[in-house]
Amino acid sequence: MKFLEKIGSYAKEVLDSAKYLGQGLGLVFNHMSRSDIVVQYPYEKLIPSERFRGRIHFERAKCISCEVCVRVCPINLPVVDWHLNKTTKKKELYSYSIDFGVCIFCGNCVEYCPTNCLSMTEEYELSVYDRHELNFDDVALGRLPSRVLDDPMVVTQREFAYLPKGAINAADYGSGGRRSGQLPSEIMTALAKADPQVPTKEPGVATNDAPHPPQEPNG
Ligand code: SF4
Ligand code: SF4
Repeated sequence: MKFLEKIGSYAKEVLDSAKYLGQGLGLVFNHMSRSDIVVQYPYEKLIPSERFRGRIHFERAKCISCEVCVRVCPINLPVVDWHLNKTTKKKELYSYSIDFGVCIFCGNCVEYCPTNCLSMTEEYELSVYDRHELNFDDVALGRLPSRVLDDPMVVTQREFAYLPKGAINAADYGSGGRRSGQLPSEIMTALAKADPQVPTKEPGVATNDAPHPPQEPNG
């Protein structure tokens, strides 16, 4: 009896292995039938998505040296150097810096800053030869971000999320086209159809049903 059990368990393992092997090969063959997608960086660049979290921009004039950004940062990264002006009884900012060699771009500091003096930009090219150059002071942080769409030397490509279903090239994107993904309202409607208990709109959330305006590449 034990011998038969062993044979059964061995046969099950063989079948499972064959199934997993088939799944892996299926994935490989699926990718073999897809077209190549290549972005010829740095001559071509993808347009970052709307909520891309790139290099942080800092507006010194708005900063009140409250240090909220330091407290909400998971690694206490922003360095806020201030002194108390005894005449005005207000904090005065000496210097502000963020080291992008350490920052994880979580966006907490931007989210919680009470005066909105921090914002995330679409700048992602932060390569340097010396990592200390990534420690940006308030002057470097205050520099306005560069946009790929404003660079005449670059042919811009839309991220694939912004292309219609099936299109793999920005040139296939006709005017008035829309992204392939679903809008939040469409997801809620589909969920409500599947389960009538689900509300069609998220409570307290303003939904923007209009299709996302397409960004025009300059290339
Ligand atoms: S949270 Fe904003 S206002 Fe407060 S210190 Fe940081 S950057 Fe300045
Ligand atoms: S993005 Fe995140 S890790 Fe970077 S400074 Fe802000 S809170 Fe800290």
